[in-house]
Amino acid sequence: MYLVVVELQEGGSLMSPTSLEQLEVKGADLRAALARIGDMRPGSLSETYGKCGKPTCHCAKSGSRGHGPSWLLTRTVDGKTVAQRIPSGPAVEQSKQHVAEYKRFRELARELIEISDQICDLRLKDLQGVREVQTKKKRHRRKSAR
Ligand SMILES: [Zn+2]
Repeated sequence: MYLVVVELQEGGSLMSPTSLEQLEVKGADLRAALARIGDMRPGSLSETYGKCGKPTCHCAKSGSRGHGPSWLLTRTVDGKTVAQRIPSGPAVEQSKQHVAEYKRFRELARELIEISDQICDLRLKDLQGVREVQTKKKRHRRKSAR
């Protein structure tokens, strides 16, 4: 019974909040990674096949999936879905990289915001400590002035 209690306490100490120093190291890593972000663009790439509408074309035959693939970069701008055609060939590979880089940027930014948020909290606590000391000093001065 006693042993169980000790184990729980040890588990609790492992869950203790990360130190400011640890958070700052993580934050610096994330900032460095963000600085190395390459060309990026939001959106998602999709492969599409289309029919040109000419009744004599091979795409009009039943079972044909149509011309393509052609690639579309789709994203939301001001609440509207905007699609941009990406020409086949190297542009597709490059666009995939651009989109992947944007996702990486978003992920890094999200992590940095999270860590920075915790750092801000810790700094506010520090500030509160400083203010309490200053208030005590002020009170002391006023008392001594009277
Ligand atoms: Zn056709």
